[in-house]
Amino acid sequence: MIRSLLIANRGEIAVRIIRACKELGIRTIAVYSEADRKALHVKMADQAICIGPPPSKDSYLNISNIVSAALHSRADAIHPGVGFLSEKAEFARKVQEAGLIWVGPDPEAIDMLGDKIRSKENATKYGVPCTPGIEGAITNIDQTVEKVKKIGLPVIIKASAGGGGKGMRIVRKIEELADNIKIAANEAEKSFGDGTVFIEKYLENAAHVELQMMGDKHGNVIYLGERDCSVQKNHQKLVEEAPSPLVTPEIRKKMGEDAVRLFKGIGYSGAGTIEFLFKDGQYYFMEVNSRIQVEHPVTEMITGVDLIKEMIRVANGDELSVKQEDIRVDSYAMEIRINATAPGTVKDYLPPSGFKVRVDSFLYNGYTVPPTYDSMVAKVIIGAPTRAEGINKMLAVLDEFHLEGVPINLELQKKIINTQIFRKGGFGTQVLDSIMKEIG
Ligand code: ADP
Repeated sequence: MIRSLLIANRGEIAVRIIRACKELGIRTIAVYSEADRKALHVKMADQAICIGPPPSKDSYLNISNIVSAALHSRADAIHPGVGFLSEKAEFARKVQEAGLIWVGPDPEAIDMLGDKIRSKENATKYGVPCTPGIEGAITNIDQTVEKVKKIGLPVIIKASAGGGGKGMRIVRKIEELADNIKIAANEAEKSFGDGTVFIEKYLENAAHVELQMMGDKHGNVIYLGERDCSVQKNHQKLVEEAPSPLVTPEIRKKMGEDAVRLFKGIGYSGAGTIEFLFKDGQYYFMEVNSRIQVEHPVTEMITGVDLIKEMIRVANGDELSVKQEDIRVDSYAMEIRINATAPGTVKDYLPPSGFKVRVDSFLYNGYTVPPTYDSMVAKVIIGAPTRAEGINKMLAVLDEFHLEGVPINLELQKKIINTQIFRKGGFGTQVLDSIMKEIG
């Protein structure tokens, strides 16, 4: 029974999880680095424990400090949030070994899906169509060059342990392949401590479509519709919307049933996202994120399901509170990520509000955004009956977003969603180039 829960994270996601716990009557324990003494999640939690100095590796990535904080504060469970340790099977295992409840899939399931190469092997095993490429990790560069000649260019080199768009290189000329493999492996080693890389066909301007999944410990798995995250800069998502203008109810069902088969096969419980590339009516498995994602509110807005509460319930051993037939995709939602372009102290913060308007943030007046962590400071989410209405609504809502003291990327976001290209919809991940041309 979860009566108290430690949140192994910071920022808006920590605040989001604390709110869900309060609704469920669960005592909350925040952890923080020395740079986050004044952070909102620290103020909101029932208890807060410092876990180390500012660098993430010494605090938010410090497994033993976090587990000790949980034992010391008599927490029953740990929610890892997003990023940091959220997809580390080793962390999940340590949490369980300490006798605590891990709010997420079992470490065995994370192992099977967390690493991109293994997850593709598993997807293939359960009959989910995969992005074509060369099977397995690159071990011999000369042999790889020969294989790429056969499958044809362009290709993309990806880090098996990758995340956040890092360690990826697109190759369009065969003579540039060998060098790029070495560079990518080096980058992967530096960023993820694992230099394993592999190769996929680069699917030119395919859309990024991902399905929200949720499973419990009783073998139930459902899909909660897709999100389209094709507006990207350097392979990182800028705008997320649901449903995807490209996905028909028939495709959604087929994609969902494929995903459910994979998740059931793995024995997956908790929240997860299966990411696909989508081109010419076909979807191709890319990877699974075995955790909650930043863009989860888009799905919450459409389906009315509180995904964080659901995660806590299933970690507690309860059955999913919703069934597949309860999930309806008959409206529209969009999320805009607001990033700080420099650190600063918040002055005159007045976020928008209103009908089907949601702002997930950790800002408050007088708070100084530290330079140490992720640049995202707020997410604005809207819901509307149709995409066209949703775009107009988001523009009106963003006009209301007022913040002084911390420079943000809001104007660019507004311009992006106000272009003809965005309004038309149905584009791929290279759309930002065309959008920027239209903006001029
Ligand atoms: P990460 O885990 O770093 O986010 P992903 O595997 O999710 O990496 O890919 C991120 C983005 O990179 C995708 O949304 C897409 O834009 C691009 N990408 C990845 N693989 C391919 C591919 N085979 N073809 C085209 N684009 C790709």
